[in-house]
Amino acid sequence: MIFHLTKKIIIILVVFFSTAVYANEDGDSKHEQHEAHVHGKAEMNILIDEKTFIFELNSPALNFLGFEHEPETNEEKETVNQVSKMLLDYKNIISIPGMNCEKSQIEISVPYGDEKEEDGHHHGENDDDEHSEYYLFYSIACKDINNIEQINIKLFDNFHGFESVDVKWTYFTDAGSLEATKEQKIIKIK
Ligand SMILES: [Zn+2]
Repeated sequence: MIFHLTKKIIIILVVFFSTAVYANEDGDSKHEQHEAHVHGKAEMNILIDEKTFIFELNSPALNFLGFEHEPETNEEKETVNQVSKMLLDYKNIISIPGMNCEKSQIEISVPYGDEKEEDGHHHGENDDDEHSEYYLFYSIACKDINNIEQINIKLFDNFHGFESVDVKWTYFTDAGSLEATKEQKIIKIK
């Protein structure tokens, strides 16, 4: 059990903007936001406010990887690495047309990986019975944040295991929700 925790990789990139408050909120909300683990589905929360655009995503690992167990083959390990790299760029998850945004903070919690440090170690212990999830948190800084009109959910294009994403958003004092799908991946917030 402790072992499973240590397998998680947390990547924190340099904070360029003052997002410390939100980072703390994130730490607290991570598990509260969690709903049912359903393959193909995921949950996204978006919070837009004066200078900052924050979003988080909870998803079964299967949606990103195409499998949900400790990677065994070289191909599976490569997939895990590839997905982790792609997740470093928020634009693989969402795009904000017409906005000029800079990445400021990312936290990615992945269930597998870090094989280099575990060379020669095999995990075979009934991992198949367990479900695993990715948790992603992004805080980006956008110029003219008042002009955001829509958000496109890009992960349907980049990761093929997603069928729908329950999106809840807050834009200043407005709020809304939408079940985004491959066919309906644009969230209109104005
Ligand atoms: Zn699962």
